[in-house]
Amino acid sequence: MNKPLDLKELMIDQAQLAKRLRQETSGEVMTDSASRGRYATDASIYQAMPVAVFVPKTAEDIATAIQIAAELGVPVLPRGGGTSQCGQTTGAALVIDNTKYFRNVLDLNIDQGYVEVEPGMVLDHLNGSLKQYGLWYPVDVSTAGQATIGGMAGNNSCGSRSIAYGNMVHNVLGINAWMANGKIGEFGNYANSSGVAKQLGDFVKDLANNLQPEIETHFPKVLRRVAGYNLDIFHPQSELPYTKDGSVNLSHLLVGSEGTLAYFKSLKLKLAPLPKHKVLGIVNFASFYKAMDSAQHIVKLGPTAVELVDRTMIDLARSNPSFKKTIETALIDHTAQTPEAILLVEFSGEAHAPLLEKLKALEQLMGDLGLAGSVVPMPDATLQKNLWEVRKAGLNIMMSLKGDGKPVSFIEDCAVPLESLADYTQALTDVFSKYGSRGTWYAHASVGTLHVRPILDMRRDGAQKMRAVAEEASALVRKYKGAYSGEHGDGLCRGEWISWQFGPKITEALAEIKHAFDPKGLFNPGKIINPPKMDDASNFRFPPSYKVIPLQPALDWSAWNVQNNPVTEETTAPGTGGDPAMGLAKAVEMCNNNGHCRKFDAEVMCPSYRVTRDEKHLTRGRANTLRLALSNQLDIKDESSPLGSDAIKEVMELCVSCKACRRECPTGVDMAKMKIEFLSAYKIRVGHSLRDLAVAYLPKYAATISRIPFLPAILNLRNHIAPVAKLQEWMMGISAQRSLPIWKGRTFWSESKTASPYQYCADELSKQKGVVLLADTFNAYFEDENLMAAIKVLTATGYRIHIPHKSEIKSTNKAPSTCSKEFCCGRTYLAAGMVDKAKETLGELLDHLAPYAEKNIPIIGLEPSCLFTLKDEALVMGFGETAITVSKHAQLLEEFLAGEVKAGNLNLTLKPASKSVLFHGHCHQKSFAAVTPAMELLKLIPNAEPKLIESSCCGMAGSFGYEAEHIEVSKQMAEVSLLPSIRKSPDSWIVADGTSCRHQIADGTQREAVHIARILAAHL
Ligand SMILES: Cc1cc2nc3c(=O)[nH]c(=O)nc-3n(C[C@H](O)[C@H](O)[C@H](O)COP(=O)(O)OP(=O)(O)OC[C@H]3O[C@@H](n4cnc5c(N)ncnc54)[C@H](O)[C@@H]3O)c2cc1C
Ligand code: SF4
Ligand code: SF4
Repeated sequence: MNKPLDLKELMIDQAQLAKRLRQETSGEVMTDSASRGRYATDASIYQAMPVAVFVPKTAEDIATAIQIAAELGVPVLPRGGGTSQCGQTTGAALVIDNTKYFRNVLDLNIDQGYVEVEPGMVLDHLNGSLKQYGLWYPVDVSTAGQATIGGMAGNNSCGSRSIAYGNMVHNVLGINAWMANGKIGEFGNYANSSGVAKQLGDFVKDLANNLQPEIETHFPKVLRRVAGYNLDIFHPQSELPYTKDGSVNLSHLLVGSEGTLAYFKSLKLKLAPLPKHKVLGIVNFASFYKAMDSAQHIVKLGPTAVELVDRTMIDLARSNPSFKKTIETALIDHTAQTPEAILLVEFSGEAHAPLLEKLKALEQLMGDLGLAGSVVPMPDATLQKNLWEVRKAGLNIMMSLKGDGKPVSFIEDCAVPLESLADYTQALTDVFSKYGSRGTWYAHASVGTLHVRPILDMRRDGAQKMRAVAEEASALVRKYKGAYSGEHGDGLCRGEWISWQFGPKITEALAEIKHAFDPKGLFNPGKIINPPKMDDASNFRFPPSYKVIPLQPALDWSAWNVQNNPVTEETTAPGTGGDPAMGLAKAVEMCNNNGHCRKFDAEVMCPSYRVTRDEKHLTRGRANTLRLALSNQLDIKDESSPLGSDAIKEVMELCVSCKACRRECPTGVDMAKMKIEFLSAYKIRVGHSLRDLAVAYLPKYAATISRIPFLPAILNLRNHIAPVAKLQEWMMGISAQRSLPIWKGRTFWSESKTASPYQYCADELSKQKGVVLLADTFNAYFEDENLMAAIKVLTATGYRIHIPHKSEIKSTNKAPSTCSKEFCCGRTYLAAGMVDKAKETLGELLDHLAPYAEKNIPIIGLEPSCLFTLKDEALVMGFGETAITVSKHAQLLEEFLAGEVKAGNLNLTLKPASKSVLFHGHCHQKSFAAVTPAMELLKLIPNAEPKLIESSCCGMAGSFGYEAEHIEVSKQMAEVSLLPSIRKSPDSWIVADGTSCRHQIADGTQREAVHIARILAAHL
């Protein structure tokens, strides 16, 4: 029997382990506390510091690492996306990350319908590459954008459509794996097996034969059973047999083994034809019980999925601007009360017409069940896709609850037979209320696996409640003859329930299997065999001993500093949560490690990860490092400034403050703001560089430079004389490879200010069709043609414009300042970590704008990063109501114009375009959903046929792309999709609203991109 290894002994081996790995492999080896800390968690409540982290580059690296670890007695933990919910991907081990270099297709056989892949291949990537052949790998887990095939096999994962396709185990044809001695075992069809696989197969067969009566008694018959090892491959117990022809496949022993038996090298997978057509019927229920009771009848219609979304989740989705519109397409009447539950019933097949018949049959069935008129038929593919995205985001929607009480996963995937589903959910709901909590239900009604997570506070009484609820839930599972572990695996939270589920004899047999595969207990110890107690607080990420260090952040994080009520989910007033870091720590702790930021294709998050594939350059890696630093869990030399430490600098280095996570992270981790906190603390520690000062004070000195005769022209020589650029790079760290923005002698201010035609007080302006137009530093001094174009468009369409300028203030109640005459949003100060300076300058602007906002006058900006400072950072800088009022009226030019067109206030008639338009959205524009209005406006130009470039961050990101140490990463970010898309359309107009985006496009493609104001003005 394997014993858990002594951690003290392991730590002694760390140095030797690292030394040998560095000498004998080509992989990346990490032993510092921050790197290990980033691999200490998965999407569960647990945490364990790895001994070391290894990112192998070659297969030989992995084999060697396993051998070295075996010789030194250090456990090995293979890791994919780290999205497991039960702690199986945490451990005091050598954690080996497959995701960076092992993501290739090794063999694809279309005719025979299989593919062989490396373990780090992400499901969505695989399916993306298979689409062209009309095939897919149908184990469609909700984390398809992050989950790796190795991890899915490790967990025996299951998708929403398992009723049609089965679980992972039903779709794996073979696995080649490194055994604990570093040698390869080839696991496939038992009848054809040889070598170590055959020996192990024979051994397990003997065990299974001896235990056949026990297996028949104790193995749950439901499809969703993923606990323990699949000892029943020789006597299948599930309602869906492992193989269609009844043969035994030894790879199925490894599926669900959670990294405890062998290390997968490659996996051969069975592919399925992509269904040509799908329809969705959404059944609305006024009673949750009725919804659960109906599932058993609905499955008889042969759906490919029946998924539940309950009222709490519908309401949460309705209150989230990203999901509201979509979720309401599922409701019979979105003006009426939210239904208690909806079931998403999907039918798919080769032809559309029979599927419409199925929808009718569903309507008929619901009528027969007394629920006539309860079905929303959804034959439209786009609407269906959007709705599935909301359903897939279910858990994440729930996890966005602020405060220390969080929905905890430990009984979230018990599976019961469908006929008992209604009674089981009712009984479990009663259990929750007995312990002062509540469950939100969602997911796979078709197979009796409903996800539910009671809200528990693990820092206080969560562990005791967790045990009590688990005991009662398990009794219910037994009563209804279900499976306690039905989807997410055993890990640390369900390991102790294996013996409960299977009884002592089978548990002993599982231990014998482990011993036969892994005699020294090398692979992922403490999982499946000899697991700890689920509520052993020493394994918790937030044990009762967890303490945050007191600190005063630069920004206001009080909105996160709250507690919640587990039953009503209401949160207390801002600032009352008891966070010694004034809410910053709680904001950081919102990251639950679900890994959603590891996506590559859709949207923006996270550009630095997309080009590096390093955990530390990922939103999750940053949040984890911050959490560990703020709770004093890192070896930080300068303990006076954990927030401004080098460990945090390392993770923030490539964060381009794109704000994508602010919108796309399901729990709202806002790393761009956290980077401001870091910069503020870091610069206090190390001081500002010459480059920081040059960036930060640009709005101050721009006027002076432009006014001194010949100075702009002299400065511009830098772009033409290479040694000068080199000298500047050496002195200031501004890359010589970059052109710099071109200084002008004639700027917007020098041209327009003398005439002062754009100065109105708020009173005056409110009586006319008035707007405030912000002349930001970039557009005023470097690209005044944009401001002129915006003025042309606004005046031509009948608006009266006020342009804030201190010397021209007539009737505001603030005295003009004497030092600098132009207002500024403070963006450049924030970029340099000068929060106080930013507050000072932004405060002046807000004071000036407030009277206009109070009169409901739109405040229009051209540069997204400046304008959105008013809607974002301004709200957490202590400006109170003034900032809120201004933010409500701040908008981009295109948002304003598109809104006016929609409201019928503006009839914008534009001349036809001579060529088509490609639009690239600035990251902040995307973060604030301001791309759609731009596209709507561009569509008003006849023949423009605007196309949106599907791009992440352009890579320039303010000053980031100019910085010598970041130039290569900056270029790589641009090359991911933006620049290639532009090169593919040599004859289009390129429209981009961000000044840095335009610069990156010009540097990378030698094409001029224009602000939307200019293209609109050109077509007036
Ligand atoms: C929001 C959310 C939604 C989810 N939805 C679903 C869902 O719909 N269905 C579902 O089944 N699960 C779901 N999960 C759980 C999880 O995403 C899946 O189990 C997923 O398949 C894990 O993949 P991964 O790459 O992250 O694996 P990891 O967590 O990295 O690893 C999982 C296990 O596999 C082992 N492993 C990894 N690579 C190897 C290898 N090369 N050799 C041997 N063992 C290996 C690991 O040691 C670990 O024990 C969800 C999780 C979250 C956070
Ligand atoms: S940062 Fe957000 S998206 Fe990334 S793992 Fe954390 S919670 Fe998930
Ligand atoms: S702000 Fe952008 S770069 Fe930074 S963590 Fe968020 S998504 Fe990644």
